[in-house]
Formats: sequence, structure tokens, C-alpha cells
Amino acid sequence: MPVINRHSHGEALNIITFNDNQINFNEEKLSQLLLHPQVKDREIAIVSIVGAYRKGKSFFMDYCLRFMYANFKSLNNSNLSSTSSWIGDKDEALTGFSWRSGSIRDTTGLSFWSDIFLHDENLAILLVDTQGLFDPETSTEENAKILTLSTLLSSSLILNLNNVIQEDQLQYLQYATEFASLASSNNHNNSKPFQRFLFLIRDWQNVDDFEFGMNGGAAYLDQILKSKPDQSEELKSVREHIRESFDELLCCLMPYPGKKVATSSDYDGRWSAMDEDFFNELRLLIENFLAVDKIVSKRVNGVQVTGSSFFEIIKNYIMTFSTSRLIPKAQTLYELTVNKFMTKLVEKSYEIYEKNLEGIQETNEQVDGTHLKAFEAAMAAFDGTKKMGNEQDEEKFKNQLKQKINIKETEWKSIWLKQIKEIKEEKERKRKAEEEA
Ligand code: GDP
Ligand code: MG
Repeated sequence: MPVINRHSHGEALNIITFNDNQINFNEEKLSQLLLHPQVKDREIAIVSIVGAYRKGKSFFMDYCLRFMYANFKSLNNSNLSSTSSWIGDKDEALTGFSWRSGSIRDTTGLSFWSDIFLHDENLAILLVDTQGLFDPETSTEENAKILTLSTLLSSSLILNLNNVIQEDQLQYLQYATEFASLASSNNHNNSKPFQRFLFLIRDWQNVDDFEFGMNGGAAYLDQILKSKPDQSEELKSVREHIRESFDELLCCLMPYPGKKVATSSDYDGRWSAMDEDFFNELRLLIENFLAVDKIVSKRVNGVQVTGSSFFEIIKNYIMTFSTSRLIPKAQTLYELTVNKFMTKLVEKSYEIYEKNLEGIQETNEQVDGTHLKAFEAAMAAFDGTKKMGNEQDEEKFKNQLKQKINIKETEWKSIWLKQIKEIKEEKERKRKAEEEA
């Protein structure tokens, strides 16, 4: 059997890393991904995974990569794989994000797969792995920051857990629910703040209670999310609001993969070594979760983002995160994002006004007419764009736009009116001179 190295087309890029609670952000690498000519104007889907270390996260993402390479075009490899099944040869070693890297780890943070998958003309899909979460060297603040950033960045977030959903693990979702309550009171788009969330439960043992897969998972999740009398207020609140935070809340119960996968130190990831029921569930899950009609693109505060607009938003998030020791308040992040987005919209609409002022003006009426047309074009651009924030925000930024236009209008009109007047006077002088001659 020839060795197929499908993943020579990409590598893991550690774009957001943590060190002593300091965030390091490789802005240039992220810009190379999101501002790529084939990506910057597309909608973006980001599939990421979080969860404790050495629990099969990277392993799972690498099978996801196999699926992606077989089913999508990518920037670095435009040919679809020709193997009959996406899962590949039974003895093919697993490559991609580095997995099973022993107990040593070099980075903590988010690593992006450098190759980007494309669908149709309008969607780009990125895969993101995390490292170092909940390991003994990572501080509580770092854990919280990584989880929060992953939530903010993803359109599909996977929380990888072992055996069961523990009570305190629901706590990870509190931040998402804070966003949900902001969105419901502030957002006139009336949409949920985040898109898809998957609880991925590994080594599920209680098959008598809930069967493997997504159906068993859904039933299990229903039970977990029921409020119980002896819970803390915080957990109750998470339970009550979690469904308002995500468009889709999924859970999948995975079987134990078999001894070889779980324990063998020389295991290379081949699927022939997996227990059959694990292999079947793995295939079903990935085929379902990453099916092209199931992949959702990222919305921020109800607004669809593109590669380039999301790049700006991420930069803004990172800046806010790096200036505070604690996680920034959901409210703070929300307001900052709305402000930046709306300011940009004002600028863009204003540019449309300026652009429409071009051309030679010959009469006072023409000056008024040109201004009015330009004004209407700018307002149409503003009104025609989906906005972040509530109605007051919209009013506020619309007024800003009107003020900017007003200032420009006065300046521009006075120049043209003066010029028209001068031309008129000049003509008058000539006429008089001719008359006298
Ligand atoms: P990560 O640190 O969470 O990214 O974990 P890795 O993907 O590096 O995998 C750690 C180890 O777990 C590897 O030896 C895998 O073979 C093994 N593994 C993969 N999937 C599973 C699973 O579902 N259950 C168990 N018990 N082990 C798994
Ligand atoms: Mg890993």
C-alpha cells in the first residue's frame, strides 16, 4: 500500500497562544488566512474543539480533516481525493493536528489548520484545535480565556468530555448565556448569539440508559439540562438559558474506542485498530456534523461576517482580552463590537456619499440635486445593511452619518456655488465688454 499523505497540504498554526496569562497573537498568520483573496469576501465557518488534554480532541479533528479533504476543495489542494470512502485506507496513519504528543506540551492555545476548505462561491471553512486546556500547568484564568475565545470565534464549537457531563462543566457555558441575555435585550436582529454547540462525550458507558450517537445524546442532554432542586443559582441559570445561546445544541455519545486506541503507545491512528462500534459512530458523527448542508457560517451579534470583517472583530476581541487580567465582561465585548461595526458602517456609507459628489456642477440646481442623490445613496447603504445593536444604537450612528454628511455638504456646496458664481460673473463681464465694443 502506498503511503498517502493527504495532510501535506497544511499545518497547525498556533495563532493565539497563552504564556503566564499573557496572550500572544500572531496577527500576520491570521491575516494570511482570513484576508486571503479567496477567503476575505466569503462567509466563514469555524469548527473548533475544546476540552481537557489527552482526551482524543486532536485525534477527532484529524478524522474531521480527512472528511474535509475528501468532500471539499481547499486552498492548497483543489483536487478532491479519489479514494472511494472519505475515511481512507484501513491502515492509513492519522496525520494533521499533532495528537498523542505524550505528556509534554509546548503550547497552550488555539491552533488553526493552515489549509482552508471552500464551498461554492461563498463559504470558507476553518478547523481549529486547542491545546493545554485544563492541564496541570494551565491557570484557571487561562482556561477561562481560552474557552471564552473559542466560544466567541466558533460557528461550531465542540466540547470534548470524558464519560459524562459533570455538573461543573456546564459552568463553561456561562459566558455564552451572558451573551444570550445581552442579545435578547439589545439586539434588534433577535437572533441567538452563537450557532452550533456539540457536547462530544467519549467512552460513554451507560448504554442501558442512553444509546450511542446523536439520538442517545439528545435524550441525555435533555435530562442533564433539567433543573434540579439542589442546584446553585448559577448552574440553574446556565441550564435555563443555554438553549437561548445556541441555534443548535447537540450531544453525541461515543463508545470506548478499544484498547489499542486508548492505551497503545505505538498506535498510529489507523482505523483498522478501532473497535467496530466506535468506528461506526465516528463515521456517522462526522458525516452528519460536517455535512455541507449542516455547516453554519459565523454570525456576530446577528450579523453574518466575512473573512475580512471577522478578522477585524477577532483583532478587537484579542485586544480587549490582552488588556485585562480577567476575562472581559460580555457586556464590554458586546458594546465594543457593536461600536466598531457601526462606526465602520458609518464610514462606508459616508464614502458612498463622497463618491457620489463627483462630477462637474454647472448650476445651483445641479449642486442641490447631486448632493441629494449622494445623500440618498449613502442612506440607502446604511439602511440596507444588517445592523448590530438596538434601535437606539441605530439612531445614534445614523445621526453621526448625517452630521458627517452635513459638514461635507456645506464645504462642498460652498466651493461649487462660489465657482458657479465666478463663472457667471466672468460671462457677464465678457458679455458687457462685447456690448461696449
Ligand atoms: P488531546 O490532547 O485531547 O488532543 O488528545 P489526543 O488526540 O492527542 O489523543 C490522546 C490519546 O487518546 C491518544 O492516544 C488517542 O489514541 C486516544 N484516544 C483517541 N480517541 C479516544 C477515545 O475516544 N477514548 C479514549 N479513551 N482514548 C482516545
Ligand atoms: Mg491535542
